[in-house]
Amino acid sequence: MKKTLTILGSINADHVISVPHFAKPGETLTGHHYHIAYGGKGANQAVAAARLSDEHTQVNFIGCIGDDDLGRTMKNAFEQDGINTQFIHQIAHQTTGIAMIQVAASGENSIVISAGANGCLDENIVEQSRSQIEQADLLLMQLETPLPAVIKAAQIAKNNGVKVVLNPAPAQKLPDELLANLNMITPNETEAEILTGVKVTDLESAVKSAEIFHQKGIETVLITLGSKGVFVSHQGQQEIVAGFKVNAVDTTAAGDTFNGAFLIALLDGKPLQDAIRFAHVAAAISVTREGAQPSIPTRAETLDFLK
Ligand code: ADP
Repeated sequence: MKKTLTILGSINADHVISVPHFAKPGETLTGHHYHIAYGGKGANQAVAAARLSDEHTQVNFIGCIGDDDLGRTMKNAFEQDGINTQFIHQIAHQTTGIAMIQVAASGENSIVISAGANGCLDENIVEQSRSQIEQADLLLMQLETPLPAVIKAAQIAKNNGVKVVLNPAPAQKLPDELLANLNMITPNETEAEILTGVKVTDLESAVKSAEIFHQKGIETVLITLGSKGVFVSHQGQQEIVAGFKVNAVDTTAAGDTFNGAFLIALLDGKPLQDAIRFAHVAAAISVTREGAQPSIPTRAETLDFLK
């Protein structure tokens, strides 16, 4: 029987333009290399999971697009990647979530976001998508969509014996009622610090931070450490698992690729260490390429790297 991973989260289109410098008030500036890259943490993680899975795993995505061509085109692209898009809701009188990104010659970014349809992913949408949560083996969420819906989805999952994983990005204070329903949390160092108040700089501080999550009832804590790998704390086992050394070009969606890949590997039945290794490879490949979804590798590319 197929295993099922349901992902609930955001869908964004990044409009990227290179500029000599950021446009000043009243200035009209000519940019170059304009392109649209598909992103949004929820969508990135769903794309990663779908590209990295085989025929034994089904990836479902619960999200919202606007009533526009951009949203419909993105939904088609998700289908091409093998995601079940039946519960991507099209919201009337709304635009699809976007980010306007200026990249200056200095390498700095200036980003303006419009949440659009992502802001409509409320408890009602979760109720309409209930079957995809109840029938899943794992539910993966982030924090780019409204918190009440995340809380409700976690509760439905818990009531039905579905394991819940939260990638708490972007970080915000979380109520205990949500934390108590999580089986696993996967913050990066900054998010771990915001959520636990412990600055994560080494093994000792990571252990301290993880203990706070464990006290809230979360069994498994993974703190991603960028190029240094990941700290894992699970049933008394606590260690840093190093990542792979690559020539990093753009780390956008590294964490999203890691999360999607890691959960697929767990659903494949891999032990924790092997699942982390698989996720490290997929995320390492993603940082050697530009953009969010364009950078996410396939299962074949990832398995090739491990040979
Ligand atoms: P986020 O993107 O959420 O901030 P991290 O930066 O912690 O997440 O990275 C997540 C994972 O991506 C790491 O655990 C590692 O596997 C991989 N990764 C990130 N940066 C690099 C890098 N420079 N080289 C190799 N792997 C990387």
